[in-house]
Amino acid sequence: MANVDMSSISGSNPVDYMKYVVVTGGVLSGLGKGVTASSIGVLLKSAGLHVTAVKIDPYLNSDAGTMSPFEHGEVFVLDDGGEVDLDLGNYERFLDIALSKDNNITTGKVYSSVIEKERRGDYLGKTVQVVPHITDEIQDWIENVANRYSNGENKPPDACVIELGGTVGDIESAPFVEALRQFQFRVGKENICFVHVSLVPVMGPVGEQKTKPTQHTVKELRGLGIIPDILVCRSEVALVDETREKLAKFCHVSSEAVISAHDVANIYHVPIMMNRQGVRELLASKLNFDLPDNSKLLQDWETMANHVNSLEEEIHIAMVGKYTGLSDSYLSVTKALQHASYSVGKKLIIDWIESVNLEEGSGSEYEVYQKSWDLLKSADGILVPGGFGGRGIEGKISAAKYARENNIPYLGVCLGLQVATIEFCRNVLGIRNANSAEFDDNEENHVVVFMPEISKTHMGGTMRLGSKPTPFLVDDCKIRRLYNNEEYVNERHRHRYEVNPELIIKIEEAGLIYVGKDETGQRCEIMELRDHPYYVGTQYHPEFKSRPGRPSPPFLGLLKAACGIDI
Ligand code: GLN
Repeated sequence: MANVDMSSISGSNPVDYMKYVVVTGGVLSGLGKGVTASSIGVLLKSAGLHVTAVKIDPYLNSDAGTMSPFEHGEVFVLDDGGEVDLDLGNYERFLDIALSKDNNITTGKVYSSVIEKERRGDYLGKTVQVVPHITDEIQDWIENVANRYSNGENKPPDACVIELGGTVGDIESAPFVEALRQFQFRVGKENICFVHVSLVPVMGPVGEQKTKPTQHTVKELRGLGIIPDILVCRSEVALVDETREKLAKFCHVSSEAVISAHDVANIYHVPIMMNRQGVRELLASKLNFDLPDNSKLLQDWETMANHVNSLEEEIHIAMVGKYTGLSDSYLSVTKALQHASYSVGKKLIIDWIESVNLEEGSGSEYEVYQKSWDLLKSADGILVPGGFGGRGIEGKISAAKYARENNIPYLGVCLGLQVATIEFCRNVLGIRNANSAEFDDNEENHVVVFMPEISKTHMGGTMRLGSKPTPFLVDDCKIRRLYNNEEYVNERHRHRYEVNPELIIKIEEAGLIYVGKDETGQRCEIMELRDHPYYVGTQYHPEFKSRPGRPSPPFLGLLKAACGIDI
């Protein structure tokens, strides 16, 4: 990667040099390192710093795009088409920024780059090794992306939060830990703060807080040359003073730097909880920047956290998916629904329905089938999210049919638009075996087709990806009103198939209108059914750009319609 021009940031206000916060984790995965790192970003932002984020994933895949959501949770999509780890979604939502694919570093990317340089002869005469070539590449990469403007910001960042995926001690993460150890000397110790997230289990009848796992993980980290400045301890309950003191003593941190990250009612409390324990002051003193007296940003977070707590009246949305066993598989969709529910002032209940269970005789027990249908029928709105592969498709088609015929608000995202189209072709246009080329080889049935430009041989990064403009073609429709009557929308894509362009006129004549198409006017992007309270599908994924105070319009439409509000 190119070297960084530090002149562009020196002398900038309020810091004179890029500040780095490195977040590592120990004991277990899934401790909420991403939320901790994002919350630290919020605290830095509340101090007036422009903040960006880097996520390091020590796997060999180049990106998350080729991984099943069951493996690794949702694949998050960025404006530039990057298919990345879901933690980048946390950063975008918490910090209200837009990141690039280079903000997600993987072992695959780092090694590819080093091997490419070796072939070019950049290291001519040298033996290419993990130290220093891989570790230098990692540091150069971090420095380079940390200094990039994030979309929509008018200023380069002042601070960069770096989250190291996995747990310290994993074989895969060793080169990254070593690179970060060296990095403190490259950028200067006054410009870097190490935060380690650990677990404090609570055991026994009196709820004793156990410190040993944290002692061990800190010992391991220190053995690798990194001394944490702040220890964030995940626990069911708040840490008591005795635990704090003990951890301070055994882990070589001050007791003020032992932070309790106990369970809270919703994630918006996390930055507030950390602020109350003095994390802003700790960061400011370690990284040497001034703190403003008060922060409107933190007040806004507190207001939102309390608003979310106060919601009582329930609204039920049935989520008809195929990866429902792992809720992280649909993280951004879940977040977008939540954001919309805050806006309509309702407590969101997602009724997860595994789509195969809506298929009669699919192998699921009759009781499960019945229960799934009961759940679907009792919902205030139905959502069919994106997905790949044929399993459960007929169940999704049935859900789309039920919503259409019974005036139930429906939002179909990507695959959800495609199944609604298949259903409409089968049951309104009478095309008996209508299907998608993804699930059926018989060309005659294809109402959803493979897009011509997509590779048939390579799977990684070859879909239609990233942000693309969609002009509206219809003046008066619900979805356009939800988008404030904009001329066009810019949303993120991830798909290989599209509605068959040859059938569009026929489908539209029957009442399902494609109100937004791509810039060529050929490719269907947004559908809306006439004479229905809300029956909308988008070929793009609006969930990726939803924000807590700025819900994604198609999701807001679903929630409004589910509440009986006219759009
Ligand atoms: N599998 C479908 C396609 O590739 C839908 C993709 C999605 O829902 N993200 O077009």
